[in-house]
Amino acid sequence: MTQNKLEIMKCTHGKPKPDVDSLAFGKHFTDHMFIMDYSEEKGWHGARIIPYQPLTLDPAAMVFHYGQTVFEGLKAYRSEEGDIRLFRPEENFARLNRSSDRLSIPPVDESLMLNYLKELILLDRDWIPTAEGTSLYIRPFIIATEPNLSVAPSRTYKLMMILSPVGAYYEEGMNPVGIFVEDHYTRAAPGGTGTAKTAGNYCAAYKAQDRATANQKSQVLWLDGVEKKYIEEVGSMNVFFKIDGEIHTPELSGSILEGVTRKSVIELLHSWGMNVRERRISMEEVIAASKAGTLEEVFGTGTAAVISPVGELQWKDHSMLINNRNTGALAKRLYDSLTGIQTGEQEDPFGWSVQINDN
Ligand SMILES: *Cc1c(COP(=O)(O)O)cnc(C)c1O
Repeated sequence: MTQNKLEIMKCTHGKPKPDVDSLAFGKHFTDHMFIMDYSEEKGWHGARIIPYQPLTLDPAAMVFHYGQTVFEGLKAYRSEEGDIRLFRPEENFARLNRSSDRLSIPPVDESLMLNYLKELILLDRDWIPTAEGTSLYIRPFIIATEPNLSVAPSRTYKLMMILSPVGAYYEEGMNPVGIFVEDHYTRAAPGGTGTAKTAGNYCAAYKAQDRATANQKSQVLWLDGVEKKYIEEVGSMNVFFKIDGEIHTPELSGSILEGVTRKSVIELLHSWGMNVRERRISMEEVIAASKAGTLEEVFGTGTAAVISPVGELQWKDHSMLINNRNTGALAKRLYDSLTGIQTGEQEDPFGWSVQINDN
């Protein structure tokens, strides 16, 4: 039991907090961080909250060489009244363990992790911005630390959680984005690491992002790695299509990331009496729907933007405008409902929102 005890070392004086208007994603970090260690003898141990600080690692630490690392991303919201809420955090720790399993990293105790996270957030609660659309982004991650150049799983790890206040994603209302359909590079293949939140999946996408940027598009839509025919996901978002009144999303193919927002959108739509078809969706089919005038809405789902309407899709030489670059009614309704539940402004019939303070 003593092994699970959380030690707290507070910093003597906090850093100045950034101006809410200057909050860019992931640039500012709070006063404290969580850290714990893993060894074969002790398992996960030494859980502690310490002042936010740099790490000292051996240059041979395995994470630097073979990329044995996983991460998560979730948010805490603070209401005007001071209530602090997390959105389905148990889903994130469950997914962290699934990612870890794929990367041969030992699992953590999910409910213990949630307790540690609550302690960390409550300690740095004054860092959670309250303005509409703002939140505290939470980044749990694990790295392999054994100093050893053999190609094998590390025998030691560190798990950390850092917190970053983030500004509103949509400062001037929802803004449909242009998307470039990647037809050369591959994000993930069957049997690969696409379902894990692991570093290599993201840096391997930078070249595709460069192509999107060169085409004046803000993000990449990935196709399946085998035939480059079926739609997988967008950047770090899952994707939904409304075609002729029906809602479709790519099925969990084994190479797409299982988003918590994706799952919540599906459950929300079901609760509204709408059907969602999880299936393989081909790019040809989307083009045909666009030509027929039945491609009503396209939107991405993920923790960062919650819902991100797509206004244009470019695939090779075809460019398709969606809903005349306007935010669709369904995307807007989903955004309002999800953010309403996340911040506690709206009733939460699903029990998704977890309040972590008691006022
Ligand atoms: C994190 C992520 C998502 C979205 O997951 P959420 O849990 O909804 O934030 C989708 N795709 C990729 C590749 C991701 O990394």
